[in-house]
Amino acid sequence: MTDCLFCKIAAGEIPSDKVYEDDDVFAFKDIHPKAPVHVLIIPKQHVATLTDAKDPALLGMLMDRVRKIADEVLNLAKGYRVIINVRSGGGQEVFHLHAHILGGKVLPF
Ligand code: 5GP
Ligand code: ZN
Repeated sequence: MTDCLFCKIAAGEIPSDKVYEDDDVFAFKDIHPKAPVHVLIIPKQHVATLTDAKDPALLGMLMDRVRKIADEVLNLAKGYRVIINVRSGGGQEVFHLHAHILGGKVLPF
């Protein structure tokens, strides 16, 4: 999608601190981290929000990469939190589906 911040980040048109990339996803550090480790994982395919993600294969792929990146790239052996904010009422600010990985400290509820 042409006018999407995260599509532009995934395409390298806007710089980011990349932590992982493959054919399906792009992962980068959040610009305003809320934990010592705060990484965003996005599908390269533009999907605005979880409500629009009707393809179970896409969602399965995304969660597989969350697990892989958290455990094998970020090495969050003590654990981590995964958050997907859904639409404005859920705190979503960027309308390209993304999962947050938060870790590096014990997280309060
Ligand atoms: P949301 O609130 O939509 O779930 O999360 C969007 C996240 O994107 C926020 O945590 C925000 O800090 C992050 N963010 C917004 N703009 C940029 C940017 O240009 N670069 C990076 N790396 N993160 C961004
Ligand atoms: Zn997009």
